[in-house]
Amino acid sequence: MATDTNTLQAIISHAKEYGFIFPSSEIYDGLQAVYDYGQMGSELKKNIKDAWWKSMTQLQDNIVGIDAAIFMHPTTWKASGHVDNFNDPMIDNKDSKKRYRVDHLIEGHAEQLKADGKEKESEDLLAAMDALIAKDDFAGLKDLIDSNKIKCAISGTCNWTDIRQFNLMFSTEFGSTASSDDADNKIYLRPETAQGIFVNFLNVQKTGRMKIPFGIAQIGKAFRNEIVARQFIFRMREFEQMEMQFFIRPGTQDEWYEFWKAERLKWHLSLGLPAEKYRYHDHVKLAHYAKAACDIEFEFPIGFKELEGIHSRGDFDLSQHQEYSKKKQQYFDNDVDPATGKPYGNYIPYVIETSIGLDRMFLAVMSNAYMEQDLSTAEKQDSRVVLKFPAKLAPIKMAVLPLTKKDGLPEIAAGIINSCKSSFRCFYEEKDSIGKRYRRMDALGTPFCVTVDHQTKEDNTVTIRYRDSMEQERIPIDKLKEVVLQAIE
Ligand code: ATP
Repeated sequence: MATDTNTLQAIISHAKEYGFIFPSSEIYDGLQAVYDYGQMGSELKKNIKDAWWKSMTQLQDNIVGIDAAIFMHPTTWKASGHVDNFNDPMIDNKDSKKRYRVDHLIEGHAEQLKADGKEKESEDLLAAMDALIAKDDFAGLKDLIDSNKIKCAISGTCNWTDIRQFNLMFSTEFGSTASSDDADNKIYLRPETAQGIFVNFLNVQKTGRMKIPFGIAQIGKAFRNEIVARQFIFRMREFEQMEMQFFIRPGTQDEWYEFWKAERLKWHLSLGLPAEKYRYHDHVKLAHYAKAACDIEFEFPIGFKELEGIHSRGDFDLSQHQEYSKKKQQYFDNDVDPATGKPYGNYIPYVIETSIGLDRMFLAVMSNAYMEQDLSTAEKQDSRVVLKFPAKLAPIKMAVLPLTKKDGLPEIAAGIINSCKSSFRCFYEEKDSIGKRYRRMDALGTPFCVTVDHQTKEDNTVTIRYRDSMEQERIPIDKLKEVVLQAIE
């Protein structure tokens, strides 16, 4: 599989030109790995969020949502292991002073080998890296970098420091009494949303009268001081996660792990994304909390990369919070265990987690949708850039375009918009030729364009144009809403 950075560059430019994504505080030259979503991007992002929320809460019998604060009691992060373990091995190039995550540096070299046709060498390098990472063998990793003569992309030299670990959490101080030197008063910007769910496990279970198995879902911002942050919205320092923690009876973790692995992939495919762009990747090295873990990988323009993680976390998190808070995190299960004939009784539930980055999902949807099409015929050269979003996710569902600015056509167009806008997002445009307006709507990914012309005044019909096939047909105005609603259901 070739990695296509040209496509990523084209997507980045397109996203900016059409109001999807801007660099943060761009007038001050931007802030590395931080981005703002524009008028189109925020709509697309919200549609992805809504689709996830609906499928993970409304359509489930036993999953509810919460919205926890970004700031949490500092002990949360000691209990979760993030203060001690949320580190990545890093290496600095002594000449450029550039710092790299070791696994990314080696993976980058492996990708280059593959692109040069050295598939076997690339695979061997990755296998060697996985084995060394699994053992936390930093000296071995350094040898691997040296023996493969891996160079810094900036200085072009192999002059590396030893490998060290850095904590990825951002911290700040709370109120006026805290001092930044006082580790106990350090407040962290949460690096994941999951802990907000764990500390509320009993609140939700008791007030919601939830019975195991049940889940708690959440969408929210997370912050990580990523060292390598140069892949657009794939790796950001401020990003959004959509996470669900599913609480289960100990002993049932394997079946629930498999269930959620399959269920989450189904969700991706149900949005109309192609199966061949997905694959599972089982983890060799497990995080400090994990019993089993896999990634759902997507084929981004930069290659197959992690989009979502499914983790079997055992009772690690709730046990840790019980220990640090000195408050019992147990559940009383009065279902009868067939083996003993008695209720299962008190236990700390096990957890299966599904965790997806909203921004990464945005990039998956955007890169899958982006197409440069050659429409040339024998008579004339022509092309278009089109975003073939699934209709359900498209920022604008229907554009209404009066053929001319006069003869009452704008009024009819406005009437159509008024009758549809409470059901879905419409857009009005009267400037430029119809052809140009269609192209602009293609570039924004609008699945339906409706043209109002003089015939409309006579028979109440309009031309509807379908983005993907570019076919057009005449339909009565009162059919429009149904056509669009059917496509976005
Ligand atoms: P990676 O190995 O790519 O750094 P991770 O394994 O650390 O990711 P998790 O901690 O499992 O990621 O987080 C769950 C999900 O959150 C990821 O699958 C990804 O979609 C998203 N995510 C994590 N870090 C970032 C980031 N810096 N920017 C955007 N999304 C992120």
